[in-house]
Amino acid sequence: MSIDISRVTKKFGDFVALDDVSVSIPTGQLTALLGPSGGGKSTLLRIIAGLESADSGTVTIEGTDATRLPPQKRNVGFVFQHYAVFKHMTVAKNVAFGLEIRKKPKPEVLRRVEELLDLVHLSQFSHRLPSQLSGGQRQRMALARALAVEPTVLLLDEPFGALDAKVRKELREWLRRLHDEVHVTTVFVTHDQEEALEVADEIVVINDGRIEQVGTPDQLYDEPANDFVMGFLGQVT
Ligand code: ADP
Ligand code: MG
Repeated sequence: MSIDISRVTKKFGDFVALDDVSVSIPTGQLTALLGPSGGGKSTLLRIIAGLESADSGTVTIEGTDATRLPPQKRNVGFVFQHYAVFKHMTVAKNVAFGLEIRKKPKPEVLRRVEELLDLVHLSQFSHRLPSQLSGGQRQRMALARALAVEPTVLLLDEPFGALDAKVRKELREWLRRLHDEVHVTTVFVTHDQEEALEVADEIVVINDGRIEQVGTPDQLYDEPANDFVMGFLGQVT
C-alpha cells in the first residue's frame, strides 16, 4: 500500500508550481520531501492533505481515490512549523481535542491521551498550558496531538524549522523514534539536506515543481540522478 501521486499539475495563475508530478510513497515509511525553497514541497503536501486541489492528476491513499475527498475524510494528521495550538487548553486537552470532537467515549480518550503523553515524555506536563512548555516540548505535544486520531498518514511541513539547531536535532530523533514505535506512514517536508538524510527512510527530491529523484539516503549519495541532486546534497554543512 502507498500514497500514489499520479500526474499532478498545480498552477497558481500562469505559474506552474507542480508540473506533472508522479510519485509513490510507501506505507509505513518515513519519507522526506526535500528541496529548495519554492520548489513545490508544501504545495504537494497540501494536495496530499486535501487542503489544496490539483488542476489535474490524482491522489490515491491506501488504494482509495482521495483526489476529491475533503481533508477530514482523508484521515491525515498534521504538524506545521507554527502549529496552531489551543493556548487556553492544557497539554492533555490539546492532545484530546481530536478525539473529543469525534465523540470518543471519555475513558478511551483518557487512556489514549495518557498513552500519547507517555510516548512523547510529557506526562508530567499534562496540566500545563502550552505557553509553559519549551518550543521543543510544544512540538512534541503537536506530534502527540496529530497522532491521537490514529491517522493513516502523518504530514509534517517544516515542523522544526522555527526552533534552534540543538532542539531541531533532538526533535529529529523524536520523530524517528516515534515513527519506529507507531509505524504510521509519514511524509515530512524539509529544505534541510542533513535533516532528510539523517531521519528519512526514503527521500523525494523536488525542485521547480518536478521530482528530481526518489531514493534512500544511500542511493542519493551513491548515485545522484543529476547535477541538481549532486549540487543540492553537496551543500550539506
Ligand atoms: P516550498 O514549500 O517548496 O518552499 P511551495 O510549495 O510553498 O514551495 O511553493 C511553490 C511555488 O508556488 C512558490 O513559487 C510559491 O511562491 C508558489 N505558491 C505557493 N502557494 C501559492 C499561492 N497560494 N498563490 C500563488 N503562488 C503560490
Ligand atoms: Mg514550504
